[in-house]
Amino acid sequence: MHSDLDPEDWQEVEVIWHKAVEVGLDHLRSLRNQPVWRPTPEHVRDALRAPLPVDSTPIERVFDQFCHDVLPFNTGNAHPSFFGWVHGGGNVYGVIGEMCAAVMNSNVGGRDHVAVYVERQVLQWCREIFHYPEESSGLLTSGTSMATLIALTVARNQACEIDVNEHGLQSTGCQLVGYCSEQTHSSVLKAFQMLGLGAQALRSVPIKDDFTMDLSALARMVNDDQRNGLQPFCVIATAGTVNTGAIDDIAGAAALCKDKSLWLHVDAAFGGFAILLNEYQERLASIAAADSVAFDFHKWLQVPYSVGGLLIRNAEAHQRAFSAKKEYLTTSEQGLAGGAPWFCDYGPELSRSFLALKVWFTIKTLGVQRIADVIRKHCEQASYLAEQVTLHSKLELMAPVAMNIACFRFKPLNMKAADKTNRNIVTQLHLSGNAAPSTTTIRGALAIRVAIVNHRTQMRDLDELIDQVVAIGEKTAC
Ligand SMILES: *Cc1c(COP(=O)(O)O)cnc(C)c1O
Repeated sequence: MHSDLDPEDWQEVEVIWHKAVEVGLDHLRSLRNQPVWRPTPEHVRDALRAPLPVDSTPIERVFDQFCHDVLPFNTGNAHPSFFGWVHGGGNVYGVIGEMCAAVMNSNVGGRDHVAVYVERQVLQWCREIFHYPEESSGLLTSGTSMATLIALTVARNQACEIDVNEHGLQSTGCQLVGYCSEQTHSSVLKAFQMLGLGAQALRSVPIKDDFTMDLSALARMVNDDQRNGLQPFCVIATAGTVNTGAIDDIAGAAALCKDKSLWLHVDAAFGGFAILLNEYQERLASIAAADSVAFDFHKWLQVPYSVGGLLIRNAEAHQRAFSAKKEYLTTSEQGLAGGAPWFCDYGPELSRSFLALKVWFTIKTLGVQRIADVIRKHCEQASYLAEQVTLHSKLELMAPVAMNIACFRFKPLNMKAADKTNRNIVTQLHLSGNAAPSTTTIRGALAIRVAIVNHRTQMRDLDELIDQVVAIGEKTAC
């Protein structure tokens, strides 16, 4: 009878560990030969349904079930023909980082240990990328949704004259309102809801023909709200909208926010990293003027899921919003309880995993130049796709291509059936396992949306996608 949980026979674990590495490498090497996606079959769902395991199972049996019942039925985002939503493809160096982080089992909420220094270094690289002020604070998060929630918490607290942390929002009497374009990601809406501001406090600013926020409309809305006794407090601009990849006029938004004393938050989830390319630097330079910026490493930076981050200009306000120190969390000058400030004082989470290590492995191994080359390739691929669509009599481009996203549709003879036909084309593509774009609505019409975020995607994958869309369209359209 052993009293700890380590294996009795380390040799046995070693065999499985090596096998896991082999299976993992085979999987990554052969992605192209696998279907993009396949549904999790009923018999597999059945096999996964099991009562709470009370007794032990040998690791090789558990691993065996993983190989048969789990691994084959993945999301598909590692595959070169995955074009849905905005999903990064991951990379093998990041996988090594993730494995090493699991071995270390660090808790990066605070204290003085090396993971804290790695995370600080990764955040410093982000300051470098975005030319963000040295004195800013930052935090790695599970993604942009969490980063945005944290940033807007700080913005909300700063806007209220009364200490919200002490008295709660209800006692402030503030009528806070914020602004974002109608193309903004739903994580902003969720943040407003969670922050007790409510959906109605988030104003939806109309867009211009290029799908960017109409700043004159924004200025008018801010003025109207002020005149009506409300308190405008923040603007959320997007560097790369999820629908079309449009980049809001961040410089214009920054000027307006400065003039009106509003907090500017930039949702740079994927598009922000296009700043690594000369051709996007000018449009993204004003991220450096924002009060906060949220971004994802798991999208265009190809780090395995999940990891995002944020930077906040006013480090002191950031810490004030989240440091709720208790006696059992006191820091000291020296020893393991040192290392202040602790990351737990910059967000809601106390226990935090070593997210930085997979980012560190990825950026250090690849270097940002190679990553930038992939980002450029994706933008060129989206333009190429748009060109092919424009040249094709059966296809129609639905929105201008600003970066790596192209929205188009198949034109059936009966245009009244266009939405239905295109939704069906996408479903058929998913079920075929050949490609996985997603759908969205562009000015009221359903579009096939192709977001190219996977470093493995080649031009021929886009040619094949077009051929298949047309083939399915012609076969099924009424
Ligand atoms: C993906 C995305 C988000 C949400 O980020 P998560 O990492 O999924 O939480 C927000 N905004 C944009 C523009 C995105 O593409």
